[in-house]
Amino acid sequence: AEELIRRSEKLTAVGELAAGVAHEIRNPLTSLKGFTSILHSSSEDKKNKEFLEIMLSEIDRINFIVSEFMMLAKPDKKNFQTQNLISILQHVIALLGTQAIMKNIRLIPEYEVNQIQVDCEENQLKQVFVNVIKNAIEAMEGGGKVQVKVNLHDQNRVKISIIDHGTGIPKDKLDKVGQPFFTLKESGTGLGLMVSFKIIQNHNGIMQIESKENKGTKVEIILPIKKNEQNT
Ligand code: ADP
Ligand code: MG
Repeated sequence: AEELIRRSEKLTAVGELAAGVAHEIRNPLTSLKGFTSILHSSSEDKKNKEFLEIMLSEIDRINFIVSEFMMLAKPDKKNFQTQNLISILQHVIALLGTQAIMKNIRLIPEYEVNQIQVDCEENQLKQVFVNVIKNAIEAMEGGGKVQVKVNLHDQNRVKISIIDHGTGIPKDKLDKVGQPFFTLKESGTGLGLMVSFKIIQNHNGIMQIESKENKGTKVEIILPIKKNEQNT
Protein backbone atom coordinates (compact mmCIF):
# COMPACT_ATOMS: atom_id res chain seq x y z
CA ALA A 1 0.00 0.00 0.00
CA GLU A 2 2.82 2.38 0.91
CA GLU A 3 4.41 1.71 -2.45
CA LEU A 4 1.64 3.12 -4.62
CA ILE A 5 1.50 6.43 -2.84
CA ARG A 6 5.20 6.89 -3.25
CA ARG A 7 4.94 5.95 -6.88
CA SER A 8 2.02 8.29 -7.45
CA GLU A 9 3.96 11.06 -5.74
CA LYS A 10 6.90 10.36 -7.97
CA LEU A 11 4.67 10.45 -11.04
CA THR A 12 3.28 13.76 -9.86
CA ALA A 13 6.79 15.11 -9.34
CA VAL A 14 7.77 14.21 -12.89
CA GLY A 15 4.58 15.81 -14.19
CA GLU A 16 5.23 18.91 -12.13
CA LEU A 17 8.73 19.16 -13.50
CA ALA A 18 7.53 18.69 -17.06
CA ALA A 19 4.73 21.21 -16.67
CA GLY A 20 7.01 23.63 -14.85
CA VAL A 21 9.69 23.51 -17.52
CA ALA A 22 7.09 23.83 -20.28
CA HIS A 23 5.55 26.80 -18.48
CA GLU A 24 8.92 28.53 -18.10
CA ILE A 25 9.84 27.97 -21.74
CA ARG A 26 6.61 29.23 -23.23
CA ASN A 27 6.94 32.96 -22.47
CA PRO A 28 10.49 33.55 -23.76
CA LEU A 29 9.57 31.41 -26.74
CA THR A 30 6.65 33.69 -27.58
CA SER A 31 8.90 36.73 -27.56
CA LEU A 32 11.54 34.92 -29.63
CA LYS A 33 8.90 34.07 -32.19
CA GLY A 34 7.58 37.62 -32.25
CA PHE A 35 10.96 39.24 -32.83
CA THR A 36 12.01 36.61 -35.34
CA SER A 37 8.82 37.27 -37.33
CA ILE A 38 9.53 41.01 -37.31
CA LEU A 39 13.10 40.43 -38.53
CA HIS A 40 11.86 38.01 -41.16
CA SER A 41 9.32 40.39 -42.63
CA SER A 42 11.63 43.39 -42.55
CA SER A 43 14.68 41.57 -43.91
CA GLU A 44 15.78 42.47 -47.45
CA ASP A 45 18.69 40.04 -47.60
CA LYS A 46 17.69 36.80 -49.30
CA LYS A 47 20.09 34.60 -47.34
CA ASN A 48 19.02 36.12 -43.98
CA LYS A 49 15.36 35.68 -44.89
CA GLU A 50 16.01 32.02 -45.56
CA PHE A 51 17.73 31.53 -42.19
CA LEU A 52 14.95 33.38 -40.39
CA GLU A 53 12.39 31.13 -42.08
CA ILE A 54 14.20 28.09 -40.72
CA MET A 55 14.31 29.70 -37.27
CA LEU A 56 10.56 30.33 -37.37
CA SER A 57 9.75 26.76 -38.26
CA GLU A 58 12.11 25.48 -35.56
CA ILE A 59 10.41 27.75 -33.01
CA ASP A 60 7.04 26.34 -34.08
CA ARG A 61 8.43 22.90 -33.49
CA ILE A 62 9.56 23.74 -29.95
CA ASN A 63 6.16 25.32 -29.31
CA PHE A 64 4.47 22.11 -30.37
CA ILE A 65 6.64 20.00 -28.06
CA VAL A 66 6.03 22.38 -25.16
CA SER A 67 2.24 22.17 -25.65
CA GLU A 68 2.45 18.40 -25.56
CA PHE A 69 4.29 18.57 -22.25
CA MET A 70 1.73 20.94 -20.87
CA MET A 71 -1.04 18.42 -21.46
CA LEU A 72 0.65 16.08 -19.01
CA ALA A 73 0.54 12.52 -20.16
CA LYS A 74 -2.77 12.40 -21.94
CA PRO A 75 -4.07 8.86 -21.54
CA ASP A 76 -4.09 6.52 -24.49
CA LYS A 77 -7.62 5.15 -25.02
CA LYS A 78 -5.97 1.85 -25.89
CA ASN A 79 -4.89 1.55 -22.26
CA PHE A 80 -8.43 2.02 -20.94
CA GLN A 81 -9.86 -0.92 -19.03
CA THR A 82 -13.17 -1.73 -17.41
CA GLN A 83 -12.75 -1.40 -13.66
CA ASN A 84 -14.94 -1.42 -10.59
CA LEU A 85 -14.98 2.17 -9.39
CA ILE A 86 -15.71 1.07 -5.83
CA SER A 87 -12.50 -1.00 -5.70
CA ILE A 88 -10.52 1.98 -6.97
CA LEU A 89 -11.97 4.21 -4.25
CA GLN A 90 -11.40 1.60 -1.54
CA HIS A 91 -7.80 1.34 -2.61
CA VAL A 92 -7.26 5.11 -2.43
CA ILE A 93 -9.02 5.36 0.94
CA ALA A 94 -6.77 2.61 2.29
CA LEU A 95 -3.73 4.46 0.97
CA LEU A 96 -4.63 7.79 2.51
CA GLY A 97 -6.20 6.42 5.67
CA THR A 98 -2.99 6.42 7.73
CA GLN A 99 -2.15 9.97 6.73
CA ALA A 100 -5.69 11.02 7.63
CA ILE A 101 -5.68 9.35 11.04
CA MET A 102 -2.45 11.15 11.96
CA LYS A 103 -4.32 14.40 11.41
CA ASN A 104 -7.34 13.15 13.33
CA ILE A 105 -9.40 12.84 10.17
CA ARG A 106 -11.71 9.96 9.27
CA LEU A 107 -12.45 9.05 5.67
CA ILE A 108 -16.08 7.89 5.52
CA PRO A 109 -17.17 5.86 2.49
CA GLU A 110 -20.87 6.00 1.60
CA TYR A 111 -21.58 3.83 -1.41
CA GLU A 112 -25.03 3.42 -2.90
CA VAL A 113 -23.79 0.37 -4.83
CA ASN A 114 -21.09 -2.25 -4.26
CA GLN A 115 -20.03 -2.48 -7.83
CA ILE A 116 -20.08 -0.07 -10.71
CA GLN A 117 -18.01 -0.47 -13.85
CA VAL A 118 -16.22 2.42 -15.53
CA ASP A 119 -13.91 2.55 -18.52
CA CYS A 120 -10.68 4.12 -17.35
CA GLU A 121 -6.96 4.22 -16.99
CA GLU A 122 -6.92 2.99 -13.43
CA ASN A 123 -3.76 4.77 -12.24
CA GLN A 124 -4.97 8.08 -13.58
CA LEU A 125 -8.36 7.81 -11.86
CA LYS A 126 -6.58 6.83 -8.65
CA GLN A 127 -4.41 9.92 -9.02
CA VAL A 128 -7.50 12.11 -9.27
CA PHE A 129 -9.01 10.67 -6.07
CA VAL A 130 -5.65 10.92 -4.27
CA ASN A 131 -5.35 14.59 -5.29
CA VAL A 132 -8.89 15.51 -4.26
CA ILE A 133 -8.93 13.59 -0.96
CA LYS A 134 -5.47 14.95 -0.05
CA ASN A 135 -6.77 18.47 -0.59
CA ALA A 136 -9.70 17.67 1.70
CA ILE A 137 -7.34 16.34 4.38
CA GLU A 138 -5.06 19.36 4.06
CA ALA A 139 -8.04 21.70 4.43
CA MET A 140 -9.05 20.27 7.82
CA GLU A 141 -6.30 21.25 10.21
CA GLY A 142 -8.57 20.68 13.17
CA GLY A 143 -9.50 17.14 12.13
CA GLY A 144 -12.98 15.80 11.36
CA LYS A 145 -14.74 13.75 8.72
CA VAL A 146 -14.29 13.52 4.97
CA GLN A 147 -17.17 11.81 3.16
CA VAL A 148 -16.54 9.85 -0.01
CA LYS A 149 -19.94 9.22 -1.58
CA VAL A 150 -20.94 7.24 -4.64
CA ASN A 151 -24.41 7.68 -6.11
CA LEU A 152 -26.06 6.80 -9.39
CA HIS A 153 -26.40 10.17 -11.07
CA ASP A 154 -28.70 8.91 -13.81
CA GLN A 155 -29.03 5.73 -15.91
CA ASN A 156 -25.72 6.29 -17.61
CA ARG A 157 -23.59 8.10 -15.09
CA VAL A 158 -22.15 7.70 -11.63
CA LYS A 159 -21.35 10.56 -9.27
CA ILE A 160 -18.51 10.58 -6.75
CA SER A 161 -18.66 13.32 -4.11
CA ILE A 162 -15.81 14.19 -1.78
CA ILE A 163 -17.06 16.42 1.01
CA ASP A 164 -14.97 18.09 3.68
CA HIS A 165 -15.69 20.59 6.42
CA GLY A 166 -12.41 22.44 6.20
CA THR A 167 -11.26 25.96 5.39
CA GLY A 168 -13.18 26.19 2.15
CA ILE A 169 -12.10 28.35 -0.78
CA PRO A 170 -12.70 32.12 -0.75
CA LYS A 171 -15.31 33.10 -3.34
CA ASP A 172 -12.93 35.31 -5.30
CA LYS A 173 -10.42 32.45 -5.56
CA LEU A 174 -12.81 29.73 -6.66
CA ASP A 175 -12.40 30.32 -10.38
CA LYS A 176 -8.61 30.37 -10.01
CA VAL A 177 -8.54 26.91 -8.48
CA GLY A 178 -7.47 24.30 -11.01
CA GLN A 179 -5.50 26.81 -13.01
CA PRO A 180 -1.90 25.66 -13.37
CA PHE A 181 0.31 26.73 -10.47
CA PHE A 182 -2.52 28.34 -8.53
CA THR A 183 -2.04 27.49 -4.88
CA LEU A 184 -2.92 29.05 -1.55
CA LYS A 185 -0.59 26.67 0.28
CA GLU A 186 2.90 27.52 1.42
CA SER A 187 4.42 24.51 -0.26
CA GLY A 188 1.67 23.76 -2.75
CA THR A 189 2.29 23.23 -6.43
CA GLY A 190 -1.06 24.25 -7.77
CA LEU A 191 -1.03 21.39 -10.23
CA GLY A 192 -3.18 18.73 -8.52
CA LEU A 193 -6.55 20.05 -9.59
CA MET A 194 -5.37 21.04 -13.04
CA VAL A 195 -4.18 17.51 -13.69
CA SER A 196 -7.36 16.09 -12.14
CA PHE A 197 -9.65 18.22 -14.29
CA LYS A 198 -7.65 17.14 -17.32
CA ILE A 199 -7.85 13.45 -16.47
CA ILE A 200 -11.60 13.56 -15.79
CA GLN A 201 -12.10 15.43 -19.04
CA ASN A 202 -10.11 12.72 -20.83
CA HIS A 203 -12.49 10.17 -19.30
CA ASN A 204 -15.51 11.99 -20.72
CA GLY A 205 -16.48 13.07 -17.24
CA ILE A 206 -17.26 16.26 -15.40
CA MET A 207 -15.57 17.57 -12.28
CA GLN A 208 -16.94 20.46 -10.30
CA ILE A 209 -16.09 22.16 -7.03
CA GLU A 210 -18.45 23.83 -4.62
CA SER A 211 -16.99 25.65 -1.67
CA LYS A 212 -17.84 28.05 1.12
CA GLU A 213 -15.16 29.81 3.11
CA ASN A 214 -14.92 28.44 6.66
CA LYS A 215 -17.64 25.88 5.90
CA GLY A 216 -16.07 23.35 3.56
CA THR A 217 -15.75 22.01 0.08
CA LYS A 218 -17.57 19.53 -2.11
CA VAL A 219 -15.88 18.09 -5.17
CA GLU A 220 -18.20 16.20 -7.53
CA ILE A 221 -16.96 13.92 -10.27
CA ILE A 222 -19.40 12.48 -12.77
CA LEU A 223 -18.28 9.59 -14.95
CA PRO A 224 -19.98 7.51 -17.64
CA ILE A 225 -20.96 3.99 -16.52
CA LYS A 226 -19.62 1.18 -18.67
CA LYS A 227 -22.66 -0.63 -20.08
CA ASN A 228 -23.15 -4.30 -20.94
CA GLU A 229 -21.41 -5.26 -17.74
CA GLN A 230 -22.90 -6.56 -14.55
CA ASN A 231 -23.77 -3.61 -12.39
CA THR A 232 -25.65 -4.01 -9.15
P1 ADP B 1 -2.09 22.43 -4.16
O1 ADP B 1 -2.82 21.43 -3.33
O2 ADP B 1 -0.71 22.04 -4.49
O3 ADP B 1 -2.17 23.83 -3.62
P2 ADP B 1 -4.27 21.98 -5.99
O4 ADP B 1 -4.40 22.18 -7.45
O5 ADP B 1 -4.52 20.62 -5.45
O6 ADP B 1 -2.83 22.50 -5.59
O7 ADP B 1 -5.25 22.98 -5.26
C1 ADP B 1 -5.19 24.35 -5.55
C2 ADP B 1 -5.74 25.21 -4.43
O8 ADP B 1 -7.14 25.00 -4.31
C3 ADP B 1 -5.19 24.85 -3.05
O9 ADP B 1 -3.98 25.52 -2.79
C4 ADP B 1 -6.31 25.33 -2.14
O10 ADP B 1 -6.18 26.70 -1.89
C5 ADP B 1 -7.56 25.13 -2.98
N1 ADP B 1 -8.27 23.90 -2.58
C6 ADP B 1 -8.36 22.75 -3.28
N2 ADP B 1 -9.10 21.83 -2.64
C7 ADP B 1 -9.49 22.41 -1.49
C8 ADP B 1 -10.30 21.98 -0.36
N3 ADP B 1 -10.83 20.76 -0.31
N4 ADP B 1 -10.50 22.86 0.65
C9 ADP B 1 -9.96 24.09 0.61
N5 ADP B 1 -9.21 24.56 -0.42
C10 ADP B 1 -8.97 23.73 -1.45
MG1 MG C 1 -3.46 19.52 -3.93
